[in-house]
Formats: sequence, C-alpha cells, structure tokens
Amino acid sequence: MKRVYNFSAGPGVLPEAVLKDAASEMLDYQNNGMSVMEMSHRTPMFQKIIDDAQKDLRTLMNIPDNYKVLFLQGGASLQFSMIPMNLMKKGVADYIVTGAWAKKAAAEAKKFGKVNIIASSEDKMFSYIPDVSDLKISDDADYVHMCDNNTIYGTKFHHLPNTKGKVLVSDISSCILSEEIDVSKFGLLYAGAQKNIGPAGITVVIIREDLIREDMPVNTPTMLRYDIHASKGSMYNTPPTYGIYLCGKTFQWLLNLGGIKAINKINEEKAALLYDYLDQSKLFFGTVEKNSRSIMNVCFKTNDPELDAKFISNAKNYDIVNIKGHRSIGGMRASMYNAMPVDGIKALVDYMKIFEKENLK
Ligand SMILES: *Cc1c(COP(=O)(O)O)cnc(C)c1O
Repeated sequence: MKRVYNFSAGPGVLPEAVLKDAASEMLDYQNNGMSVMEMSHRTPMFQKIIDDAQKDLRTLMNIPDNYKVLFLQGGASLQFSMIPMNLMKKGVADYIVTGAWAKKAAAEAKKFGKVNIIASSEDKMFSYIPDVSDLKISDDADYVHMCDNNTIYGTKFHHLPNTKGKVLVSDISSCILSEEIDVSKFGLLYAGAQKNIGPAGITVVIIREDLIREDMPVNTPTMLRYDIHASKGSMYNTPPTYGIYLCGKTFQWLLNLGGIKAINKINEEKAALLYDYLDQSKLFFGTVEKNSRSIMNVCFKTNDPELDAKFISNAKNYDIVNIKGHRSIGGMRASMYNAMPVDGIKALVDYMKIFEKENLK
C-alpha cells in the first residue's frame, strides 16, 4: 500500500488512523455482524454513534449548551439557501464577499430577500480580507454573513467583523477544527465535512437555539427547516450514517491528539514551513496579502504559467498530488488540512527547493 501527500482542496486528506480504524470495522462493527453502513439509524448502536459524535464535537469546539449541533446533507451550498430561508424574518441580510463561495451565498440569499454587500475584495481578485472594523451594517438586517476561510484564494479573517449587534453567520467549511473559535460570537456556523472532518455528504450546522424558528412559511420544504432537524436530533429522515460514523472517528482522533489547541499548533508549524520558504524564494511567490493569509489553503505561483504547469506535473514524482490551483486563479494551491502530516509540507518545500534550483534563470 502506498499513500501520497494529497493536497486536495476537498474532498481532502483524512487521518490515516481514522481510515485504518474504519477499515478494521468495515465488515463487523463491534461484534454486531454488520457494517455501520448496513445498520438501521433507529438502533441504539447507531444512536450512540451519532450521540458520541455530537458530544465530541461539542467538547472540541467548546460549544455552549444553548446551541444545537445538526448533521445535515446538501453540502455547504444548501446552507446558502437554508440560512436566508430560516433566518430572514425582515427579509434583509448583509453579506461580506471575500471569495467565490461567499459570492454564491449572497447570490442565493437574493432569491429570498434583500441582500446588501457591505464589503468585498473582488476588486483585487479576492487576494485580501477587507477592513471589517466599521461596516455599514443595515438597520434592518436579520444577520451578517461571512466566509471565514476562503478555500479558493487562500485568505482568512484574522479579526471578526464588527456586526454592531447583528447576528453573525459564518461559513467555516475549510477551517473548522483547525483553530480555536469562540462559538458564542456567532448565531450560526456551518461547514461541509469534506475539507477538514470526514467524507463528503455531511454538513455540520451549529445554530443558537433562539434563531431556530417554527413560524416558517407553510410552503417551506420540511427538509429545509432547522426546527425540524433540531427537534428530531438530525434524524428526521435517514441521515448519512456512515459519514457521521467517520466524522465521529475524526473527532476522536483530534481529542486524542489534545484537541484544537494541539492541532492548531501543528497547523501553524506547517503553514510557517511553507510561507517562510515562499517569502524568501526567488521563483515562487504567495498570491495573497500577508495579513490575510490562510493556514489551510496556501496559494502560490511563479511568474510563468508554463513553469507552474511543469511544477504541477512533476510533483507526482515526489508523491505530491492535487497541488494545482483553482481554475479561476491558476498557479498552485496547497491545501493543508488537519490530516496533512508535517512531513507532507516538508516534502513539498523540498520539492520546491529542487525545482527552484533547476528552473531559476
Ligand atoms: C467547499 C466549500 C463550499 C462548498 O461546499 P459543498 O459542500 O460542495 O456545497 C462552500 N464554502 C466553502 C468555504 C468551501 O470551502
């Protein structure tokens, strides 16, 4: 068996220990004679799996008791619709647009009400996080939406926006569990699992209880109501059982490692290895403003698209895969989620050094 250094932006690398553990239980989960995949979600055995997953996520993120944790489907993209459907009471929301996902979220919200773009970094290809210390928050806004870590561009908020008392909603798909966050500062947090938690097919939603409405328009699809999912413990219908089981394993892996503080230290170390190299390189350069850098997705380029292509294509000789940047900006992108080992970044930097030596004219 051979494993590569997988820098994919998502679905991304998962902890090897989690995969091995799941493999060992694939045919027979805890002497039950069947796989978790084959198990009814209405059994005590599965109830324990989902309860433990929720409990462990609560511990990891220090989620206050007045928040519900939901395991939903439809990806982060479905939250782009569910959030305005459920949270817009006055029909107005403010959006901060720092990348393609935030832009999509805003466009979707427009279908349900009035959307004000109160800050944007689109003028410079989303290469920075705008100043959000004194925004023109709309008086009648039901919430302010942000995307914390911009997966495609490699930027990250290092200060939360001042929402002037309005509810803050954040897409944390590509940074959940990578650093400590204060959940109590948010009304709603959401993340697709496939970046930093588990397989695609699960979206984690963390929502403050007072934002869960029951007085929804009668034509709201049942599956798109937070109150339904919350009252049924994420099991109104069949949940993605195997994915929840795998997410639970990742939560356990993180707890055993020492929690978010411990993984964040490793993430900072990995990011420093790559950024320090980039900052002194004469061939490669980072594409975003230094004070907006993400520690999860690092975007970089050379000045020559042909050289970028050569770098990407030769990477596999070093067991480095999925290093190509998003098609909208080109160049390279190294996604270094929690499960990417430090050795992966060392291998990448070693390869970059060799490549620089051979190609710097
Ligand atoms: C990947 C990603 C999405 C889209 O997630 P889906 O689960 O494919 O809908 C949304 N927001 C961010 C920040 C992402 O990284």
